[in-house]
Amino acid sequence: MGEKNWVDFKAVKAAVTMQMVLDHYGVNWLRKSGDELRGKCPIHGGEGERSFHVNAGKGAFHCFSCQAKGNVLDLVAAMEKCSVRDAAVKLAEWFTLAQEGAGPPATKMAAAAAKNGAEGAAAVINPPLGFQLRVDGEHAYGVKRGLAKETLAHFGAGLCMSKGTFAGRFVVPLHNELGELVGYAGRAVDDREPKYLFPSSEKGFHKKYLLFNLHRVVKEMEAEHSVVIVEGFFDCMKVHQAGFPCVALLGSSLSAEQEEMLGAHFNRAVLFFDGDEAGRGATEDCLNRLSRKLFVRAVDLPDGKQPDMLDERELRELLEV
Ligand SMILES: [Zn+2]
Repeated sequence: MGEKNWVDFKAVKAAVTMQMVLDHYGVNWLRKSGDELRGKCPIHGGEGERSFHVNAGKGAFHCFSCQAKGNVLDLVAAMEKCSVRDAAVKLAEWFTLAQEGAGPPATKMAAAAAKNGAEGAAAVINPPLGFQLRVDGEHAYGVKRGLAKETLAHFGAGLCMSKGTFAGRFVVPLHNELGELVGYAGRAVDDREPKYLFPSSEKGFHKKYLLFNLHRVVKEMEAEHSVVIVEGFFDCMKVHQAGFPCVALLGSSLSAEQEEMLGAHFNRAVLFFDGDEAGRGATEDCLNRLSRKLFVRAVDLPDGKQPDMLDERELRELLEV
């Protein structure tokens, strides 16, 4: 599984320039304006003659009309309506990149992906959910956890009013990289077990392919800014509420897939894990692995503390550089 999905985002980003991708799509209508190229957006088409901006030096694009933005991987993902992972595989295939280090050669990987069909692969891992739960965002539990109404609404979190597995739990929607709803995570508001509930792997859901809140953060933040990485979705909502872009691992271990996604989207990160053994272990592991791909620093919390217990002033003191 791990091998089949192996793709070196960093190598792809380093090897493929914006111009190469624009040429691939036959985008020849952009005109120079200062350091940038500007013109009609190849993603949404549209009317705005100059809404699409490319900074070739930074390897970044931004459409001020459809709000698509990011690096070469994000551009291909937007053009192909696929995940960043599939975009990297496509780029490796188009430009027959020789991959360094361990893992199968890109061409072999791309051939395997083509055989499965990009959509076939996506249908297996975290497939979009065909329905939504009814959620009461005004339920007292959210407030008890220190979350404002606006924050709960932003995340679509609240008490599950629908019948079924998540009935009566505090739920939060989970999205894939494209922002499609793929399931819900639920926390018990009483003594019921398990305390935390995730969608079933039998339905194709795998936490390790997901970074909670990634799709929003990618849209909202600039790559030069730091993303805060936390363990749980309550931590994430609290950190967001304090004004910092944040994603959650949904646990205290970083999967290889999450590592790739972080490397693909961000240049800087702050590790902000629980003040316990699991959290410190995660900090050490993440410092080792992520610092090869991005600038990483870690916040050390005292024993027994976790980010969602802190108030906004405390969060700001720890997170502001
Ligand atoms: Zn656009």
